[in-house]
Amino acid sequence: MLFEPYEITPYSDWSDPELRASFADELERVRGMLGRDYPLWIGGDRVDTDAKLVSTDPCAPDTVVGRTAMGGAAHIDLAFQAAEQAFASWSARPMAFRARALIKLAAVMRRRKHEFSAQMVYEVGKSWAEADGDTAEAIDFMEFYAREALRYARRQPITPYQGEDNELVYIPLGVGVVIPPWNFLLAILVGTVVGPVVVGNTVIVKPSPKTPILAQKMMECVEEAGFPPGVINLLTGADADLGDALVDDARTMFINFTGSVRTGTRILERAAKVQPGQRHIKRVQAEMGGKDALVVDETADLDHAAAVAVASGFGFQGQKCSAMSRLIVVDEVYDDLLAKVVERTKALRLDAAENDGDVCAVIDEAQYEKILGYLRAAPEQGEVLVGGGAADRPGWFIEPTVVAGVAPDAPLAQEEIFGPVVSVLRARDFDHAVEIHNGTDYALTGGLCSASRDRIARARAEFACGNLYINRKITGALVGIQPFGGYRLSGSNAKAGGPDYLRLFMLAKTVSERY
Ligand code: NAD
Repeated sequence: MLFEPYEITPYSDWSDPELRASFADELERVRGMLGRDYPLWIGGDRVDTDAKLVSTDPCAPDTVVGRTAMGGAAHIDLAFQAAEQAFASWSARPMAFRARALIKLAAVMRRRKHEFSAQMVYEVGKSWAEADGDTAEAIDFMEFYAREALRYARRQPITPYQGEDNELVYIPLGVGVVIPPWNFLLAILVGTVVGPVVVGNTVIVKPSPKTPILAQKMMECVEEAGFPPGVINLLTGADADLGDALVDDARTMFINFTGSVRTGTRILERAAKVQPGQRHIKRVQAEMGGKDALVVDETADLDHAAAVAVASGFGFQGQKCSAMSRLIVVDEVYDDLLAKVVERTKALRLDAAENDGDVCAVIDEAQYEKILGYLRAAPEQGEVLVGGGAADRPGWFIEPTVVAGVAPDAPLAQEEIFGPVVSVLRARDFDHAVEIHNGTDYALTGGLCSASRDRIARARAEFACGNLYINRKITGALVGIQPFGGYRLSGSNAKAGGPDYLRLFMLAKTVSERY
């Protein structure tokens, strides 16, 4: 074994006053670094542009978190050249060489762990624990994939055949394009980059224009960890300039995408077209949205179920692909559970991420307006019991909202809103609850609170979701422990942090030598 066995990064204990004080200091320090200018990273060079993409704090939109260079067609070309050049030597290295580079990168980032979390507080409006979880997940991806890669370098078990030496070897695909979303701006960014890279690919990563700064900090770590130039290239800029152009480029071997169904299906369609000069089919991993539900039956511990529902629905303002946006309750306990959920929701503290609010601002004005549009239509689809509108303060704050009595086919129960809005649906009985649970285009996360072994067994078999959680919250998948990814329109089921993930970025080659 090259490394000690993988261990998950423990979450920080935010009840510890000393930790809180030192994190407050770190926030202060990071605040002093806001507003700086950042470049593109191509082939190890920092490349600047006159035009700048500005990132602001969702909780205080007048605060500039940073400005990054805006990449265009010429930068795309340079990035492909750099990535192709780096691929020749990077892919030829032994797997252990690359795995060690990842462990080093994890160590560099771990040393700056609280700085990364503090940056996230300002850039995306995560509460302290949410930001800490995101950073921990990023570190875990590196530690986990470094070890996973070694498995693929071993001799693969194929059936012996007399007189011949047969072997199956895995080889990388080539240059890939990585397109992460803004919500897990570090964990998904890092995971979707280092997975392909550790098995020998080189990448061009294009973060969301909503959150381009944290990727800069990742690149500083990549440089410090000693990655060869061109293995990881960073292009920031507008989607209109970079998105289609990177996907369409004939040099793109694979696309590792996480984001909305709209963008994901667009990428799948465009990547299917073989471009002039292209000699391969592009592989696309597209991990997309959800309309995730928690079912509560009449045998459940209702206090626990209410706590689970509120944590799953309103953590990071409901802006997780795994967030519970539908709470499905069987008739017998509907009123009792609803009362408990309403009470807990009312107790949530709306405040800036810097002050560690339970519910902070949503990512930007566009998302704020989109959510408010749903809230304006909500009274026609159910009864708004808590919240229901914008909070009366500067920043993109929306009140945590509970809408009860929503019909299973209503837009509130079908469409991904991506905000602090929970729809509560009444089921006649458990059969009906299963039917409602499975009645959307998505299949990402799902959950059940129940004390019945039979019901739990039925949920295991019948709930359509990639990640099923029983008697616990339905968010917060742990790397290596709960491989993550959905199906249906929730995506290609890549299962990030799982044993099948790295295989997605490799080809298999069989070699037979007759003696
Ligand atoms: P999005 O689709 O708007 O953007 C995702 C990424 O695609 C961003 O980097 C964006 O800049 C880029 N992009 C936009 N247009 C593009 C184009 N034409 N070509 C190429 N790239 C383009 O999604 P988002 O708002 O950033 O993220 C939220 C969505 O992501 C939600 O639907 C959420 O459920 C989903 N998500 C899914 C998972 C998962 O694992 N399944 C995890 C996190 C988020």
